[in-house]
Amino acid sequence: MHKSIRCIKVRVSIMGDISKHFSRKEHACECGCGFAAVDHELNRVLEDFREHFGRIEISGPNRCVKHNATIRNAATHSYHTKAMAADTKFLDLPTIRPKAVYDYACLKYEGKYGFILYHNRMHVDVRPGSPYREIKA
Ligand SMILES: [Zn+2]
Ligand SMILES: [Zn+2]
Repeated sequence: MHKSIRCIKVRVSIMGDISKHFSRKEHACECGCGFAAVDHELNRVLEDFREHFGRIEISGPNRCVKHNATIRNAATHSYHTKAMAADTKFLDLPTIRPKAVYDYACLKYEGKYGFILYHNRMHVDVRPGSPYREIKA
C-alpha cells in the first residue's frame, strides 16, 4: 500500500527546539532572510502563556529592518526587529479578544514588558525599562 506523506507548513509546533513548545523557525522573519533569533526572556514569557492558555500561534514573528519597513503602521524601532517581540494567537481560546491572557499578563508582569491587545491577537515584547500597555479599539 502506498502512503503519501504530505508536508504541510505549520507555524504551530508540538515540540520546540528552543524551549518546550516553541521552535526557532516559528520566530523567523517572513521575508526569508533567516533572522530567527529569540530573546530568552521572550521565550520564557511565551512558555508561561502556553502553560496557562494552551496552544499559541506566532502570527507575528521577527522582522528584519528591511521587512519591518514594508509593514504598514509598524514602529521604526519595533521590538520585532530585535528578536524581543511576538504577536500571538491563542488557538484554544475563543478567537475574539484574548482578554484573559492580557489581564493575566498585566498582573503577572506588572511594571514590565509591552502588551498590546488586538481584536484577535496579542502583541508581546520584553522591552527593558518602562512597560507599555494598550488595548486597541
Ligand atoms: Zn527579513
Ligand atoms: Zn507585534
